[in-house]
Amino acid sequence: MYTRLRTLIPLILKLAIMRVYFAVMRYSYLFCYRGKRYVCPFCLHSFRKFLPFGLKHQVFQEKRTIGASYRSNAVCPYCHSIDRERLVYLFIVENQLLSKNIRLLHIAPEINLQKFMKKQKIKYFSADLNNPFVDIRMDITNINCPSEYFDAIICNHVLEHIVDDKRAMQELYRVLRLGGWGILQVPHSPILQKTSENFSIVTKEEREKYFGQSDHVRIYGNDYVNRLKSVGFTVEIRSNCMNDIRFFLYTYIFKKVTVSPEHLNPF
Ligand SMILES: [Zn+2]
Repeated sequence: MYTRLRTLIPLILKLAIMRVYFAVMRYSYLFCYRGKRYVCPFCLHSFRKFLPFGLKHQVFQEKRTIGASYRSNAVCPYCHSIDRERLVYLFIVENQLLSKNIRLLHIAPEINLQKFMKKQKIKYFSADLNNPFVDIRMDITNINCPSEYFDAIICNHVLEHIVDDKRAMQELYRVLRLGGWGILQVPHSPILQKTSENFSIVTKEEREKYFGQSDHVRIYGNDYVNRLKSVGFTVEIRSNCMNDIRFFLYTYIFKKVTVSPEHLNPF
């Protein structure tokens, strides 16, 4: 008992200090960054600017990588939501995608998006390979669920970590019901026609050099859509701003992927 207390007390103290720290930071940002230019759709606070996020890595800059490179206004100073989860949230709300009682799988869940989902009248399942606080511990190359089990899947910034991403896509396709939808964001280079990957690159240093992050195994190019189609998905790109780098983020993230019975060319 004494030993257990000795272990728990520092942990509880640490958590308490962190809570106080983040509360202080939140309210100081509310004051220091006060303004009207940016509004967070999650917490509804407005600021003159958001916090930066992403890596200033050379390969991201060279490949103009969207969704992974440095962004100067990406994180809400109050709730810490990041740009990609705010975009998914707005897309889901604007398109009224959360029909009552749908069974939704959220892989590697973003915190604010997860909080929102849990308040909806849906059957929500969070999943992750390593996070112990999710509903299902899951390897997405081998999903332990029946086929056509989920009505919807959100899986953002996961596929670029997986060597056999085709297997992961096949599994996501398998567990999605016919007519279901998914949102599958990845880091993407609009100037690459073909995805940049090389499986002889295995060290952290090399992966960081070529893919921008030590645990990334590729940077997706414009063939990402065809990769999804090759396992059977139908891919909708939901806006037409492909030539404008500022809006390409919206274009590419907000694809809706529906199940199609035909299997197209393998990549
Ligand atoms: Zn916020």
